[in-house]
Amino acid sequence: MPELPEVEVVKQSLNKKIKEKKVKKVLVRNRNLRKKVPLNFERFFINQKILEIERFSKYLILHLSNNKKCLIHLGMSGTIHFVKKNKKNIITNTSFYNSPKLPSKHNHIEIFFGDCKIVYNDPRRFGFFEIVESEKLLKKKFDHLGPEPFNSEYTLDYIYSKLRGKKKNIKNFLIDQNFISGIGNIYASEILFLSRINPDKKAKDLKKNDCQKILVNSQKILREAINKGGSSIKDFKNISGNHGGFQSEFKVYQREGSKCKRTNCIGIIKKKNISNRSTFFCNSCQK
Ligand SMILES: [Zn+2]
Repeated sequence: MPELPEVEVVKQSLNKKIKEKKVKKVLVRNRNLRKKVPLNFERFFINQKILEIERFSKYLILHLSNNKKCLIHLGMSGTIHFVKKNKKNIITNTSFYNSPKLPSKHNHIEIFFGDCKIVYNDPRRFGFFEIVESEKLLKKKFDHLGPEPFNSEYTLDYIYSKLRGKKKNIKNFLIDQNFISGIGNIYASEILFLSRINPDKKAKDLKKNDCQKILVNSQKILREAINKGGSSIKDFKNISGNHGGFQSEFKVYQREGSKCKRTNCIGIIKKKNISNRSTFFCNSCQK
């Protein structure tokens, strides 16, 4: 599932490829995404310039020249592919997860520019495209979400005050978007490993020092993933499917039964379901 770093890399790729381009045509092959693609969606885009692509949490925001916005969420399996009109570029994926090439099935939305197009692919159809009329309405959409790990509001005091007295375990806290935006299941496991904190530990039992580790490591993990993902798709040439990007760097995620990668640790990586989500941790160095 695309998390903050993957969406950030899509954003960077799109800014490189379609910024300042004018939409010529839109083709919707399937309106039945998580939210139904509105009937005026095609007309909404025609002759609009893409001024800028932003990201908040796991949302992409296309800013159009009529001051309206298109909000995109990639759901569980959404990818955006960039296809040139004449030159056949084989690697089309704008991020480092899922297929590097444009799949033949599940291409639901195509947005055409003069010499290229972007294609939205989503086998599970949990993603969505939504038209947002103004900046004010856009802000409202994000009202309920906590700060991102890179925001200035995400501080030691913020974390400590939120966790204090709470019985909820720290893993569930990290993936709670009201507390912090943009951390999902994969990176939560990695952050807790780096912080040497057991995912089952109750929030109220965390010391200030633990909160400091969470602060530093959530920024570190996400930044590394963005950098690795960004470099792996440089010019869309170096990407090699699931082997590229940050996935090969996971310390615990999907490594159950393997030896802990921490120097001098004799632990084994375990997998446990916490609130129905797979959680990975070392049984020795995470307390
Ligand atoms: Zn360990």
